[in-house]
Amino acid sequence: MDKLSKTSLNYLLSEYLEDLKRSGVQDFKRAPRASTPSRLASRPSDSTARPEPVASPPSPSPSAPSRARRDASSPESSVGGDPRVAELRLISEQVAQCSRCAELASNRTQTVFGTGDPHAELVFIGEGPGAEEDLRGEPFVGRSGKLLTDMIEKGMRIPRSSVFICNIVRCRPPGNRNPTGEEATACRPFLDATLKVVAPKYICCLGSIAATNLLGVESSLGRLRGVVHSYGDAKVVCTYHPAYLLRNPSAKKDAWQDLQLLMSEMGLPR
Ligand code: SF4
Repeated sequence: MDKLSKTSLNYLLSEYLEDLKRSGVQDFKRAPRASTPSRLASRPSDSTARPEPVASPPSPSPSAPSRARRDASSPESSVGGDPRVAELRLISEQVAQCSRCAELASNRTQTVFGTGDPHAELVFIGEGPGAEEDLRGEPFVGRSGKLLTDMIEKGMRIPRSSVFICNIVRCRPPGNRNPTGEEATACRPFLDATLKVVAPKYICCLGSIAATNLLGVESSLGRLRGVVHSYGDAKVVCTYHPAYLLRNPSAKKDAWQDLQLLMSEMGLPR
């Protein structure tokens, strides 16, 4: 890394730390078991670090979003000094050391920061890592991850690698319970910082925990679905969490309607 890049990184780090401090994140003590930072943070130069799609990606659709496809965890993206990769890495390093939620920090295998294209037009947000995500350090792996991949690639016909995926909380709630409001609030500065860097045009909330926390409302998912909300300049669509769809396959047709609404907003062919 040249001197200019180091200077830029130091500036970005200090700027983000100030942002996070103003947002209430002031204590980045090392978590007792936070020994394995997320892929974004820990293996930027490891050629195996590129997230493997759970399902084989189809050929990119001509109608897929036109932004450059650069994966935040891919070595290629950091070689060129992509500032978004560096910014996300800085945030993920803070996440990996965070112990604000004592129960979550002491029970996690590792934090699960997020993965995908740092220039994504579309960000998917779930509620929190499950057991498999906790072990692998990636969001939406396993059966839920495969279904999400199918929703993106077979439903929307865009590559999963073209979106960014993260969660409301970055540590697994024990027993796969829902994250508490306090935990979601504690982790919110990291989510806001991530979204500030990626700057998506569209956000899809997966499940009521993601939807109500991102939008800051107390409402049922049923009331939030079918309406285009906003988060800053981004348009927000809410749908069911893939884990819910696995338990309730009859809801898949409603989820498909939600994706069609999202595709319509994005200008993708339905
Ligand atoms: S869920 Fe977020 S705020 Fe809580 S300990 Fe994990 S990284 Fe920190």
